[in-house]
Amino acid sequence: MLDDTPYGELLTALHAVLGDRGMLRGADTGAYCHDWRDLYHGATPVVIRPADVAELSAAVKICAARGVAMVPQGGNTSMVGGAVPDESGGQVVVSLARLNRLRDLDPVDMSMVVEAGVPWQTAQAHAAAAGLLLPLSISSEGTAQVGGILSTNAGGNNTLRYGNARDLVLGIEAVMPDGEVLHALRRLRKDNTGYALRHLLIGAEGTLGFITAAVLKLVPRPVETAVALCGVPSPEAATELFRMFQRHDAATIQAFEFMSGTGMGFVLAHIPDTTLPLASPAPHYALIELAT
Ligand SMILES: Cc1cc2nc3c(=O)[nH]c(=O)nc-3n(C[C@H](O)[C@H](O)[C@H](O)COP(=O)(O)OP(=O)(O)OC[C@H]3O[C@@H](n4cnc5c(N)ncnc54)[C@H](O)[C@@H]3O)c2cc1C
Repeated sequence: MLDDTPYGELLTALHAVLGDRGMLRGADTGAYCHDWRDLYHGATPVVIRPADVAELSAAVKICAARGVAMVPQGGNTSMVGGAVPDESGGQVVVSLARLNRLRDLDPVDMSMVVEAGVPWQTAQAHAAAAGLLLPLSISSEGTAQVGGILSTNAGGNNTLRYGNARDLVLGIEAVMPDGEVLHALRRLRKDNTGYALRHLLIGAEGTLGFITAAVLKLVPRPVETAVALCGVPSPEAATELFRMFQRHDAATIQAFEFMSGTGMGFVLAHIPDTTLPLASPAPHYALIELAT
C-alpha cells in the first residue's frame, strides 16, 4: 500500500495504472484544491494526471468500483467552483492537462480533433497555422482548456455570429462514469444518425463523464475587420444601433457587446493604466466588431 490512510488501497490501485508521473499527493495538490479567486476550497487524497484515454478509463473503473467521487479539472478558470473538490477530502481530482495533443486538422473539411487538455489558445493557434479561425474567444483562453470550455458550454465575444461552444462541436470522445469510452468523434456535418450524445456532455460540468477529445468546427479567417466603441445614451439606443447594423449587413456582425457606463466607470477607476478612448464619457457603450 502507498500509505496507511483510509485511501492507501485506492492509491495503490491508481498507482499501478498511472505511475509516479500520473499522481500528485500532499502539498502538490494545493493548487488544484481552490479556485483562482480563492472563493472555493476543498481537499483531495490525490490529483491524477492520466497520460491518455486508456489510463483515464482504467482510473475511472478503479474509482467507480470503490464508490469514490471524481472531479474533472481543466484550466480551473471557472467562476463557480465546479472544478474544485469538496471539503470531505475524499474526492479524486482528475487533471486533463496531459491529454494535450492535436490529433488531426483537416483544412478542407475545416475541422480539427483536439484533446481535452489543450489550452484553448493553443487550439486557436493550431487553427491559425492552417489559415483558419477557431471562432470562440474568451479572456481566459490562455488557461482554459478545450474540455473545460465544452463542459461549461462557454460563450465569449463572438457568440452572436458563431454561437456558444456547443455550436462548434461536431463530435466527442468521453470516458463515462463506469470507465467505458464513448467513441463519437464524428466530423460529418450532415450527420443525422441517432442521438446527439455530445450535447448531453457539453455544458454538463463533468457530471456525466470526462470529455477527452472533440471535433471542432473551424471557419475561414476574416479578411477585414473593423472595431468601434460607440457611446450611446440608453440601452434602447444600443438596440437600435444593433438593428441598424443588422439591416445593413447582418452577416458581418462579429461581436456586439453592451457595456453600462457604471461598469466602464469601475474599469477606469480600478484597473491601472486604463483610459477611455472617447473625448468624453457616455451613459453607456457598445463595442462593435465587423468582419468580412
Ligand atoms: C477572465 C475570465 C474570463 C472569462 N470569460 C468567460 C466568457 O466570456 N464566457 C464564459 O462562458 N466563461 C468565461 N469565463 C469562465 C471560464 O473561463 C469558462 O467557464 C471556461 O470554459 C472554463 O474552462 P476551464 O478549462 O478553466 O474549466 P475548469 O474551470 O477547470 O472546469 C469548469 C467545469 O468543467 C468541468 N470540466 C473541466 N474539464 C472537463 C472535462 N475534460 N470533462 C468533463 N468536465 C470537465 C469541471 O469539473 C468544472 O465543472 C471566464 C473566466 C475568466 C477567469
